[in-house]
Amino acid sequence: MGKPTGFKEFPRQTAVDRDPVERIKDWDEFIQPIELEVLQHQGARCMDCGIPFCHTGDILAGAAAGCPVHNLIPEWNDLVYHDDWREALDRLHKTNNFPEFTGRVCPAPCEGSCTLGINDPPVAIKTIERNIIDRGFEEGWVVAEPPNERTGKKVAIVGSGPAGLAAAAQLNSAGHEVTVFERADRIGGLLMYGIPNMKLEKERVVERRVNLMKEEGIRFVTNCEIGKDKPADELKDEFDAVILATGSTRPRDLTIPGREFKGIHFAMEFLTANTKSLLDSRHEDGNYINAAGKDVIVIGGGDTGTDCLGTSMRHGCKSLVNFEIVPQPPAERAENNPWPQWPRIFRTDYGHAERKAVFGEDPREFSIETVEFTGDTDGNVTGLTTVQVDWSKPVENGPPFCRVEGSEKHWPCDLVFLALGFLGPESPAAEQLGVDIREGRGGMSWYTGEYGKYTTNVEGVFVAGDCRRGQSLVVWAINEGREAARECDRYLMGVTQLP
Ligand SMILES: Cc1cc2nc3c(=O)[nH]c(=O)nc-3n(C[C@H](O)[C@H](O)[C@H](O)COP(=O)(O)OP(=O)(O)OC[C@H]3O[C@@H](n4cnc5c(N)ncnc54)[C@H](O)[C@@H]3O)c2cc1C
Ligand code: SF4
Repeated sequence: MGKPTGFKEFPRQTAVDRDPVERIKDWDEFIQPIELEVLQHQGARCMDCGIPFCHTGDILAGAAAGCPVHNLIPEWNDLVYHDDWREALDRLHKTNNFPEFTGRVCPAPCEGSCTLGINDPPVAIKTIERNIIDRGFEEGWVVAEPPNERTGKKVAIVGSGPAGLAAAAQLNSAGHEVTVFERADRIGGLLMYGIPNMKLEKERVVERRVNLMKEEGIRFVTNCEIGKDKPADELKDEFDAVILATGSTRPRDLTIPGREFKGIHFAMEFLTANTKSLLDSRHEDGNYINAAGKDVIVIGGGDTGTDCLGTSMRHGCKSLVNFEIVPQPPAERAENNPWPQWPRIFRTDYGHAERKAVFGEDPREFSIETVEFTGDTDGNVTGLTTVQVDWSKPVENGPPFCRVEGSEKHWPCDLVFLALGFLGPESPAAEQLGVDIREGRGGMSWYTGEYGKYTTNVEGVFVAGDCRRGQSLVVWAINEGREAARECDRYLMGVTQLP
């Protein structure tokens, strides 16, 4: 522990984001650099707890508590305080293949569980993480590290999101020949075509890591959908093992009257096309859904909803509203949500801040349900109708809320984005391989494979990430990719030294 009194001397400080009014004029990242001295003070705030809850990575009350990849947080906090950034970088890479991704996009369950957070703002763990890896790249410390020897074993990974990439990095480091198949034209999964550029830059950050992985010997095949462009069972003949990391890509729909009107889109149609057009042509090809001058309503919150807000703001929408069916969370932890659980509190994310800065108010409407879309004779959406819901009065054998009588409201709009979550993976690749699929309620499904083992009913076929656990976080996908690689290595070699 660097400075025993650090947490008393220095208040929490994180990087200041770029001014929302300015940053919506471009697609560059909105986080700004932070001074070295401030970071050292932030490292000094860590108390090096005997039991560092920050790195437990458990599920408490349905959410992650502590770091899912078990980052060695107290160790690198101390190293940063002592200005030993090189060593801090090595410690960080021991548990996390891609800290430049998590340091930008992770909601930081580590901070939610930090002991200091009991009665003081937690240690600025995420800011420190991002700066360790960014400095590592700036200094040229992060270089390709191909394995010294090859085992002669071949592994196919289907899907190049964080789970597939983490599995590829680990298996390659163990000496196996790894091929990653991706149906999109660029590598990265939701790191590339989900999370927008202003949160995670594609060319500067995502592709930088993919290029390193190529240098390390990993083979990437894009525009190749396993199960369609290449039959999945060919993988069994050509490779010694297969890892499915295909994500949770089936969106939840809102099947209410008027859903067929034009102008109502799934969030991913909007976000994917926007990033592709940005990268292909700086939007000059026009191959995206343009929110410029439109009255936009985003139904659903979370990261996906926020990204639709931030993207609509950058297009120059005329108005922007965001509906959440859940009630507004409290400003502070509720009594039934104690530390070290993930704090379920009201947060203002970047998209909310941008809407507020330009239009004057937070975009969110809580406890609201959309019941009908309306449209014109040409079939275009022109508005929607909502009702307020009351969560204190669940309906018997029905939803956990009731509709409030007389609360109907009509909202004019010409563009609607549905950000209602995802139901699970698409199945052709798994079906062709004969992998069991577990069905849940409301059309939900998952590839069957136990957490920690990742094996399936088909020998030599493993599953990892959102396709196994359901829609989750980048950090969980990295955790699963790493662990699935360990189990795959054990299967191939009989023993494993992968963590
Ligand atoms: C809009 C959005 C924003 C998000 N923001 C955040 C955030 O800020 N922070 C955070 O922690 N999490 C965020 N998440 C969640 C996070 O991105 C996911 O949990 C994570 O990417 C899952 O990783 P994965 O590797 O399992 O799958 P994915 O990232 O979904 O990657 C799966 C890949 O498999 C490919 N694929 C599918 N089927 C096939 C096939 N048959 N053949 C070849 N390729 C195939 C897909 O094209 C895709 O590229 C966000 C999610 C969304 C949708
Ligand atoms: S819980 Fe917080 S104070 Fe304790 S070791 Fe982790 S980061 Fe440091």
